[in-house]
Amino acid sequence: MSNAFFNVPKAINEPVKSYAPGSEEKKSLIETYKKMKNQDPIEIPMFIGGKEVRTNNKQSISSPHDHKRILGSYNVGDSKHVQDAIDSALNAREKWANTPWQDRAAIFLKAAQLLSGPYRDKMNAATMLAQSKNVYQAEIDAACEMIDFFRFNVQYMAEIYSQQPISSPGVWNRLEYRPLEGFVFALTPFNFTAIAANLCAAPALMGNVVVWKPSQSQIYSAQVIVELFKEAGLPDGVVNMVTVGGKEAGDVIFNHKEFAGLHFTGSTTVFRNLWKGIGNNLEKYRSYPRIVGETGGKDFVVAHKTAKPSHVATALSRGAFEYQGQKCSAASRAYVPDNIWEEVKEILVKQVSSFKMGSPEDTNNFINAVIDSKSFNNIKNYLDYSKSSSEAEIIVGGNCYGDEGYFVEPTVIVTTNPSFKTMVEEIFGPVLTIYVYNANKFEETLDLVDSTSEYALTGAIISQDRESIRLASKKLVNSAGNFYINDKPTGAVVGQQPFGGARGSGTNDKAGASMNLLRWVSARTIKETFDTPSDYKYPFLG
Ligand code: NAD
Repeated sequence: MSNAFFNVPKAINEPVKSYAPGSEEKKSLIETYKKMKNQDPIEIPMFIGGKEVRTNNKQSISSPHDHKRILGSYNVGDSKHVQDAIDSALNAREKWANTPWQDRAAIFLKAAQLLSGPYRDKMNAATMLAQSKNVYQAEIDAACEMIDFFRFNVQYMAEIYSQQPISSPGVWNRLEYRPLEGFVFALTPFNFTAIAANLCAAPALMGNVVVWKPSQSQIYSAQVIVELFKEAGLPDGVVNMVTVGGKEAGDVIFNHKEFAGLHFTGSTTVFRNLWKGIGNNLEKYRSYPRIVGETGGKDFVVAHKTAKPSHVATALSRGAFEYQGQKCSAASRAYVPDNIWEEVKEILVKQVSSFKMGSPEDTNNFINAVIDSKSFNNIKNYLDYSKSSSEAEIIVGGNCYGDEGYFVEPTVIVTTNPSFKTMVEEIFGPVLTIYVYNANKFEETLDLVDSTSEYALTGAIISQDRESIRLASKKLVNSAGNFYINDKPTGAVVGQQPFGGARGSGTNDKAGASMNLLRWVSARTIKETFDTPSDYKYPFLG
């Protein structure tokens, strides 16, 4: 019974713990990390309809920074498991869609509370161990951002539900925000544990059922997410996790009549192919599927001649290299005017050279490993290409060490060609390319920033001069979905900087905002008349 209009708790951002030397939180997290690292290898099942499903095909999981140590394995499924996951989701659909919204809200608020407390260390340690994030990067992602997604989305859901049409005399008009008819496919990337959880949780909160395929490099923390959802009370079958190849999952899902929506974050190429596949199958579906995809970036920092060199250098060293540059928002191309370049260069090289690199277990390490051998080789190829080019010079970094972990030195390339390969393509590693421009050609440089890449995710202007900030904001209006003034282009916070980009970077439905939640509902308008006409004749007929 819901004999009241309930107010949801006002969402506030989860405070980020400091993990300063000697702090209780640091001691406790590192203990959990060591325990998980040294325990017997674990085996991660698929979770379909609340059941743990295992197969004879096991794939091992190791730490990117210690790739010979096996942490465990996951069960590789096939198309039958994908079909089972769809069936389980559809079986759960009616009951979940009819579950009162306050109960759905309570489940995700409880998940936030559990993660803020007893699950915090486990989620962070899993992310550090198997995705190679340092303590701070794990905390802002796996703990704080995930908690914020759950709490803010509950508030946005309540706001959406309260948006109602006006009524006229004798009539009551209502809007009902129905979940989509069918199931949602959540296809998630390796680089943010919070994104993986949110791509499932956002549609589920709005009453949808979900088939989830995590990235194979994020399965270790994915099982903690499933545990968290279960303990928070999410009914069986609402979120079903399958660990299968992406193509195998897609072949079953995109041919299914009840496929109602794709919630994707990952690379642009994969997203474009998925969209084409869905387009080709349109006649097979009951409804037009919702397609939400946040994809790649080639994020810029442009400095004006009035910028302070230390501001520019720090926006670059933090913006480009945190989490080894494996953030879709990471600064990867920069435009620095020649009047301040020598000073920027000196500070930047000094900062980057002081970074320590190694395992996240040693909290002095700012830089950890890149995710896997494929990524390591891909980044190395870009570095080799740059080393052999007469248009590029590496001013710091440039080496890769793959024996123990997939370590790539944070690297700064300076190029004389603003269209140099590494100024244009997404590398997704700790590589920043800088083009030094004539300080008097600011406006022309802004045109260059706008036209160099197919992406439009994040970007920043660093300047002390208001007019130049205004000009950059105007000329770069379509170059970034998240635009920063005098700050690095990373670190968006839920509720504060809704996140997403346009052009090749995605559909810009802003994760963790009500815009995103609206994609997971299909409104029904209800008109009820209290004075029902009983004669067809209008007054004008005399
Ligand atoms: P990815 O595209 O390789 O993988 C994403 C997901 O798609 C994974 O689960 C993967 O298994 C699956 N997949 C891959 N090929 C598939 C296919 N043919 N059919 C079906 N599924 C397939 O991306 P990634 O390496 O995990 O993540 C990095 C990428 O994600 C980068 O491009 C980054 O910019 C982007 N990203 C964007 C945002 C954003 O908000 N814009 C956030 C995080 C990451």
